[in-house]
Amino acid sequence: MNIGIDAGGTLIKVVCRDRGSLKYHKFPSIQLDYVASWINGFDEAQICVTGGKASLLKSKMKHKPAEIVEFEATSQGVRYFLTKNDFEEDAYLVTNVGTGTSIHHVTEHWQQRMGGTGVGGGTMMGLAQLLTGLTDYEEIVRLAAKGSRNRIDLLVSHIYEGAEPPIPGDLTASNFGNLLPSASLASLSKEELLAAVIGLVGETVATTSVLAAGQCGVSTVIFIGSSFLRNKLLKEVVIRYTKLRGGSPLFLQNGEFCGAVGASLYE
Ligand code: ADP
Repeated sequence: MNIGIDAGGTLIKVVCRDRGSLKYHKFPSIQLDYVASWINGFDEAQICVTGGKASLLKSKMKHKPAEIVEFEATSQGVRYFLTKNDFEEDAYLVTNVGTGTSIHHVTEHWQQRMGGTGVGGGTMMGLAQLLTGLTDYEEIVRLAAKGSRNRIDLLVSHIYEGAEPPIPGDLTASNFGNLLPSASLASLSKEELLAAVIGLVGETVATTSVLAAGQCGVSTVIFIGSSFLRNKLLKEVVIRYTKLRGGSPLFLQNGEFCGAVGASLYE
């Protein structure tokens, strides 16, 4: 059996690969010691680690595993899933919305990191906590899906007030820019605040990705990362903004495991 581990800033993703069948496991990164002792129980497996916390995890493991750079692992994992899904495009952009966001130009044989943004899943969690006190991911994404951004975000149409704007009026002119009289602030619900946070993250990662895609001469943007898990609103925002700016968004099932799958393929 091959085990690939992607030890990220927030979550540790583990893939156990045995004759073509994949088993997926996920743990909070604070359970690093537990994951190390669980993995130490696999005596016969070939193990490869990747991700920001890979070295720390490795230091706690009985048999020292191989280690690969996370960007290589991720692009290997993306290629694996694309082949499984008969996707034939030979060059595309991969945007990994993890704790932070990393953007890559990937082809059949190489990958190049184009850049990234500190706005990502960690921003979603941090701003959600600051604005609403909530810390549970599932609760945050569930409430956000019920919220409206109308009272918080400033739209292009708000600025143009009845005049014909040169760009679509329903684009966001300024995230959180629709300043309310202070008396109304307390009336904002958690749902509205959380929807606005996810709007900010989604529009930022989609816009940055499409600009990078243009620079690489590709139009398909593959979005991966645990930030999309059960996060209907983030997906909707990303799809809308990517298409609006001329890109073709694609989501991979189990896409948050690309790094771990790539590591499991290491020979
Ligand atoms: P990393 O490799 O940096 O850990 P991930 O791709 O695993 O990144 O994505 C981390 C993000 O996924 C978090 O910032 C959060 O927005 C989201 N997330 C999804 N599920 C959870 C969870 N159970 N606990 C915390 N964050 C979660």
